[in-house]
Formats: sequence, C-alpha cells, structure tokens
Amino acid sequence: MSEISREQLHAYLDDALSDAEMARIEQALRDSEPLRRALRQAMQERDRGEHSLGAVWRRERLTCPTREQLGSYLLQVLDEEQQDYIEFHLQVIECPYCVANLADLQALQQEAPPQARERRRRFFQSSAGYLHVSRDTKKNETRRK
Ligand SMILES: [Zn+2]
Repeated sequence: MSEISREQLHAYLDDALSDAEMARIEQALRDSEPLRRALRQAMQERDRGEHSLGAVWRRERLTCPTREQLGSYLLQVLDEEQQDYIEFHLQVIECPYCVANLADLQALQQEAPPQARERRRRFFQSSAGYLHVSRDTKKNETRRK
C-alpha cells in the first residue's frame, strides 16, 4: 500500500490514470483494508475541498500544460502551484503526451549546438517576466561595480 500515494488515489478517483495504473490501484484496493480506508479519507477530503492538488486538478481538469509551460517547468521558473501541478500531471497522472513532450524538451536543452542555443534564447525571450527580472537584476549588478 505504501507505494500508492494520496495523489494517486485522487487521480484514481478522477479516473485520470493510465489503464495499467488504474488496474494496479484497483488490485491494491482489493487487497488492502488500510488502502480502502485511505481512499475513503481521500473522498472525504474532496468533499470538504481540502485537497489542494486535487482542487487544482479539478479546476484544470485534463488540461495539458503547453510546451512553453513544460519548458518553464524544466527551468523551474513557474510559481509553486503551477510547478506542483505539472509535476503531478507528469509523475502521478503520467500523461504520455506530456512525458514525451518533456523528454523532447530535455533533449533540446542538452543538445548544445548553436541552433539549439538559438532556439533556447528565443524561448527565454518569449517566456515570462521572471527571466526579464533576473536579467534586469544582472544589469543593475554590473552597473554597481
Ligand atoms: Zn498532459
């Protein structure tokens, strides 16, 4: 039972896992009274709206992050809630589309040649304020010296 997290139970309740994962959890539920208790508890949490990841999940439903968001996730420049949501989407839901997309982005980041660097530079420029802020900070630092 320890292998199944609360997040996975919530995803199970949302019917948002792969068939294999759904089957694994169903089997585990059949075999384990403590896990059945955990599932009942998860259902009560949902009724009370206490499970924040579950709440995010329900709000966003099955929405996949965009490729830009995945890129920002890799660079860890998203706010905590978004970062958590994407991590949940990738690691608990194991969305095959996003896992593949992320692997592709990782390969791009590792492939250093100019072409990839140019692509990355463009990505940096097009992505959120955080990067602009850090660039401005750097400018200020050099000015101070
Ligand atoms: Zn996805």
